[in-house]
Amino acid sequence: MADCIFCKIANGEIQSQTVYEDESVRVFRDLSPQAPEHVLIVPKKHIENVAEFNSEDRGLAAHIFTEVIPKLAKDLNLDEKGFRLVINTGEDGGQTVNHLHVHLLGGRKMTWPPG
Ligand code: 5GP
Ligand code: ZN
Repeated sequence: MADCIFCKIANGEIQSQTVYEDESVRVFRDLSPQAPEHVLIVPKKHIENVAEFNSEDRGLAAHIFTEVIPKLAKDLNLDEKGFRLVINTGEDGGQTVNHLHVHLLGGRKMTWPPG
């Protein structure tokens, strides 16, 4: 989508600190990390947020949750101590970039509830 920063990063038009890439997703370091490890899992396809997911995206969603996230957890050495996934959605959810992304945060003890 024109003028979408995460489309541009995902398709390589804008440089990022990429930690993983395949045909359907790019994972890169957040510009403003909130934990020692903070990466964003971003589909290459422009999807606004999880509320816009539909059955066409089933394979993508399964890929992210059953393959990409477990691999990242191992590669970033977070699989034993744990980590947090966050998907901010819409205005009240605190979403600031309107291209679906899953935050993966780790390397410190998280608190609950979030703000
Ligand atoms: P949201 O608030 O939408 O859940 O998360 C957007 C995230 O994207 C924020 O954590 C913000 O720091 C990050 N971000 C915004 N613009 C850029 C950018 O140009 N590059 C990178 N690497 N991260 C960005
Ligand atoms: Zn986009």
